[in-house]
Amino acid sequence: MTENNTTKTVLVTGANKGIGFHIARALGEQGYTVFVGARSEERGEQAATQLREEGLDARFLHLDVTDPAVVNAAAKHVKDEFGSLDALVNNAGIALADGGWNTSELTVETTRKVFETNVIGVVSVTNAFLPLIRESAAGRIVNVSSEVGSFGFTTDPNQPFAGMQVGAYGASKAALNMLTTSYAIELKETPIKINAMTPGFTKTDLNENKGWRAPEISAKVAVDLATLNEDGPHGGFFQEGLDYHADTTVPW
Ligand code: NAP
Repeated sequence: MTENNTTKTVLVTGANKGIGFHIARALGEQGYTVFVGARSEERGEQAATQLREEGLDARFLHLDVTDPAVVNAAAKHVKDEFGSLDALVNNAGIALADGGWNTSELTVETTRKVFETNVIGVVSVTNAFLPLIRESAAGRIVNVSSEVGSFGFTTDPNQPFAGMQVGAYGASKAALNMLTTSYAIELKETPIKINAMTPGFTKTDLNENKGWRAPEISAKVAVDLATLNEDGPHGGFFQEGLDYHADTTVPW
C-alpha cells in the first residue's frame, strides 16, 4: 500500500547530524517527506524526532551505506511505502587518515574503509534506489563531494588546497566525482538530474568542528540541487559562495 504519491520524498544518507541533518531539515521545510538515513537507530530516531517536533514529516530509515542487505531493505521499505523516490542526497561520508595525511602513511585498512563508505556506499545506495527514482516525474540525485576531490582545485596554485595531502579521502571524492559524470551520461535521456556539490570547509564532527562554515549554510547547494527544476544542470560540480571563490562551478 503506497502513501499519497503527490507528496515529494527525499532520502538523505547520514542525516542524523552535520550537513546531512541540515539538508534533511531544509527539504522538510520545503514540504518533502524526508527519510532520515542513519546507521544508528538511536541517532537516526533522535534526529527524525527532532525534525518532527519542528512540524516536519521526517522518518528514520535504517541505512548503513556499507551494508548491501541493509541498503536493499531500506529501498524495499521506501518502495512499499511510497512506490517512488523524488530525490536522493548521498551525503554520508567519513574522513580517516593514518598518522598525518601523507599518502605514504595510509594503511590498506583505512583506505578500504574510506572507499567502502564514500564510493562503494554511493554505488550501493544509488543503484538500490534508482528504480524508485525512475518512478519519479523529476528524480534528482546529489552527491556530496569535496574540493579536495577536485583535480582542478588541488593542482591550482591559487587555491588553498594546492599542494595539500588529501589521502584516501580526497581520492574517494575524486572517484565519487567520476561516478557522478558516469551516471550523468547514463541518465541523460531521462528526466533524472544528477550533480555533485561541495559544502566547503564546514564545522562538523568530520573535522573535529574546525571548519569555518555553518552546516546550515553548507547544506544550501545540496538543497538547491535536490530541488532543481527541469532547466537545471545535469552532470555538474557546484559550490556556493565559498569565501575564497565566487564562481559556483567547481572544476573536476
Ligand atoms: P559528519 O558530521 O561527520 O556527518 C557524517 C554523517 O555520515 C553522519 O551522519 C554519519 O553517521 C554518517 N555516516 C558515516 N558512515 C556511514 C555509513 N557507513 N552509513 C550511513 N551513514 C554513515 O560530517 P559532515 O561534515 O556533515 O559530512 C557530510 C558530507 O559532507 C560527507 O560526505 C563529507 O565528506 C562532506 N564534506 C564535508 C566537509 C566539511 O568540511 N565538513 C567538506 C567537504 C565535504 P554517524 O553519526 O553514525 O557516524
